Amino acid sequence: MSELKLDLHTDAIRKLIRNYQTTTVTVETGVVITNSDGILSISGISDAKLNEILIVKENLYALVLSLGSDLVGAVMLSEYQNVFEGDEVKRTGRTFSVPTGSQLLGRVINVVGAPIDGGAELSNAQFEQVERQAPGVMARQSVTEPLYTGILTIDSLIPIGRGQRELIIGDRQTGKTTIAIDAIINQKDQNCNCIYVSIGQKNSTLFQVIQKLKEKDALSYTTIVSASASDLPSLKYLAPFVGITIAEQWMKEGKDVLIVYDDLTQHAIAYRTMSLLLNFPPGREAYPGDVFYLHSRLLERSGRLNKQHGGGSITALPIIQTQADDISAYIPTNVISITDGQIFLKSLLFNSGHRPAIDVGLSVSRVGGSAQKAAIKHMSSTLKLELAQYFEVLEFSKFGSELNEQTKTTLNLGSKIQKCLVQSPNSPRSPGQELFLLFMIKEKHILRVEDTEDVPAFLDIALRKFKESGLEYNIDLNVPTSLEHRELMKQVVTDAYAEFMISKSR
Ligand code: ATP
Ligand code: MG
Repeated sequence: MSELKLDLHTDAIRKLIRNYQTTTVTVETGVVITNSDGILSISGISDAKLNEILIVKENLYALVLSLGSDLVGAVMLSEYQNVFEGDEVKRTGRTFSVPTGSQLLGRVINVVGAPIDGGAELSNAQFEQVERQAPGVMARQSVTEPLYTGILTIDSLIPIGRGQRELIIGDRQTGKTTIAIDAIINQKDQNCNCIYVSIGQKNSTLFQVIQKLKEKDALSYTTIVSASASDLPSLKYLAPFVGITIAEQWMKEGKDVLIVYDDLTQHAIAYRTMSLLLNFPPGREAYPGDVFYLHSRLLERSGRLNKQHGGGSITALPIIQTQADDISAYIPTNVISITDGQIFLKSLLFNSGHRPAIDVGLSVSRVGGSAQKAAIKHMSSTLKLELAQYFEVLEFSKFGSELNEQTKTTLNLGSKIQKCLVQSPNSPRSPGQELFLLFMIKEKHILRVEDTEDVPAFLDIALRKFKESGLEYNIDLNVPTSLEHRELMKQVVTDAYAEFMISKSR
């Protein structure tokens, strides 16, 4: 009797084992060990991935940035004052992602992808992972299409091509942002989406940028990503990566994109702050050893894809602030070596009224030349040399010695060319206008006016006449300008000169 009972019992257990199903619990939780200014040390989540999002105390977010043998280092993405030792941390298994797509055009978003322009929420946006590999060598093609900034000095002497990375570098208040914004404004109707990433700037400065873009009707094709001065270093660190992720999505769809990082100095400083708190070993100027990798992996993601990959491109204009024109400091040299050239702005030029304050001698574009249209290239062929000669004799003329005729001619021409290159903000020139101005310089028509101070007035009249002539959009820029067109332009200059003389005699 008892044996039978036992058998029944074992049968029941056997049945139970047979039907037993294993389930694994994926939610992993850990606890905060320390919170130093938003940098958390967390224990108990040893399986966490790099760049994974963690949920702290139910409704706060943190990002994993270092994986130790027992502890995981993470940075808070939201306010951290109320996170204490012992607080619960949950893994999400997801890495940091942002919304992408065309609904971002005309919007201002923060780093976590939420609109901050008071407009509607983004709905059904496609989320993309922020940290990604740059496109490989075989997916790319060389830069052959120009990207006009509308600034004569840049388009003629330091040309930028679609897919190029051109650094804008200079001291504070030398017009760096203005050049970048002008470049964005000039992309109107050029089939090029723009992204302006603002890192560590005052909200008032950003507001001015937004107003300017709105005023010039440029916001409709632009997305602004903002991590303001008062935001956490972690958000400033992520901001450019958010921008490039949005840009990449458009590039993959075959579009051309222009992205501005304003500025990477603030970005490097934010990364340094975070790294020191995360106990990464400090190197030169207390930056962590991988600050070069930080910027190179960011800038490598711009470029131009080949036809098989859609043919899209990302042109990047990173901005770096220098101190006392020192371009040999750590971060400036790093970014100079990563980019395809630099536009160097000098405070001396800026203060002497030569604006945009571009130092033509120290600025360079390493790939843009091959993207420059033949007509512009041909017209600007002697310009750099003439300017170089001018600056050389300008130095000597300061000694006050007797000048020979040739030196006087060089000085006269150089100072008038300088006047032609002066351009106020938000007044981009069309490629046609640029060609015409270069023609006036190359064929020395600017020497018709005697007084250098009269050059701007003469140019204004000439440009107006040029517009009236209908030539502006009729000249083929793909070939060196024909004799016939040069004659027509010459006629415009002659008419303009006549009008200028009449207006002067009044
Ligand atoms: P920061 O270092 O503060 O970011 P920045 O280098 O970005 O400054 P901007 O803000 O672009 O400089 O310009 C500084 C000031 O110079 C602005 O008031 C701007 O209007 C003026 N400015 C810039 N470019 C020109 C120009 N080409 N002609 C006249 N004024 C200019
Ligand atoms: Mg600026």
